[in-house]
Amino acid sequence: MHIAMVSEHASPLAALGNVDAGGQNLHVAELSAALRRKGHAVTVYTRRDDPSQPERIRTPAGYDVVHVPAGPAEPIPRDELLPYMPEFGDWLHRTWSRSAPDIAHGHFWMSGLACVRGAHGLGIPVTETFHALGVVKRRHQGSTDTSPANRVELERRLSLDVDRVLATCSDELFELARMGTPHTRMSVVPCGVDLQRFTADADNAADVPRRVCPHRIVTVGRLVPRKGFDIAIAALRHLPTAELVIVGGPRPDELHDDDEARRLLRIARRHGVADRVRITGQIPREHMPALLRSADVVACVPWYEPFGIVPLEAMASGVPVIAAAVGGLTDTVVDGVTGTLVPPREPRELADAAQELLADPALRRSYGSAGRKRVASRYSWNRIAADTQRIYHRVRAQLAETEEPNEKVAAL
Ligand code: UDP
Repeated sequence: MHIAMVSEHASPLAALGNVDAGGQNLHVAELSAALRRKGHAVTVYTRRDDPSQPERIRTPAGYDVVHVPAGPAEPIPRDELLPYMPEFGDWLHRTWSRSAPDIAHGHFWMSGLACVRGAHGLGIPVTETFHALGVVKRRHQGSTDTSPANRVELERRLSLDVDRVLATCSDELFELARMGTPHTRMSVVPCGVDLQRFTADADNAADVPRRVCPHRIVTVGRLVPRKGFDIAIAALRHLPTAELVIVGGPRPDELHDDDEARRLLRIARRHGVADRVRITGQIPREHMPALLRSADVVACVPWYEPFGIVPLEAMASGVPVIAAAVGGLTDTVVDGVTGTLVPPREPRELADAAQELLADPALRRSYGSAGRKRVASRYSWNRIAADTQRIYHRVRAQLAETEEPNEKVAAL
């Protein structure tokens, strides 16, 4: 098949950890690479945000990235990108009119809208992975949510417009069902993890910050409030033997200018734990496995989490995970087997769970090896690509059987 992946803000070529670059970038990169390994031709369409970007790049993994001119060729926060999606969709339409892909796959709601517009009238089936839902973001962020006001309604319509929605976890499936998406139009296909990169084997830890305490808790993510790093800092008060390493954010040389980093350090000082909290800034992917392995426990305690790739990476590294019982984390982390699930936004519960694990090396080993087994059997990118490929085939077959194909209504 010729597969068109559309990922308007999340380029598979971006460095991860910054405010708008995380799991989705990785998902698109890894899924494209795995589908390429299966013999498909994959093109990823992402918005051009730098004038020096060439129109098309062949990645070492063998898939192509095309930079689509839509709006100014400069970085724009994703919550301000909606006005450029008609231009993005029209560009796709012109390109696909000349050479149509066999299937288009939108990542994030705005890409889905651009896909539907691009595929309009061309008989190209469209699948959609939302990665995050506006209705959940609104619920948790309330008036601080900077998403476009009509996001929730556009997502609801999009979920009916596309030929199939791929939810990344059961929690998202339920949210989509509550929004009115019929179960018959949805499948669950989770994110995966690179099992060769993330392993439990010890290796050199040259790039890992030196330990200053007997125990280490690592937490990873974009430096945004909803990731719950403040909860982990507050828990540290009750964990006198532990240090907390927070990984993510801007490049280390730009950390001092970052509002969220400054806020977290203020919280650490207020709790009297600043000497045991380290914020590393953005860490390159190749350093991430050793960093995770250096942890006694990896904590993932966001307020909410559409999927959460970090717990998979920790489990692949043989490290126990303490996770907030939200979103995709309730699918991936098995309480009492690969880690501990705790209520979100409860530092005391997190501290109690961490204390239990830090005091018991045998329990940590047992959770760690169960975690590795779990991800190896369920979450390899090859398996995720096989599931995705099956859905593409099914959608194409269904469309071929329909006399009047579902002509998508361009929602934009
Ligand atoms: N990540 C990274 N360097 C960093 C911070 C994060 O490589 O400095 C990676 C992390 O290992 C994971 C991804 O970024 O693969 C974050 O994905 P997740 O789904 O956990 O969170 P999201 O950013 O999508 O909310």
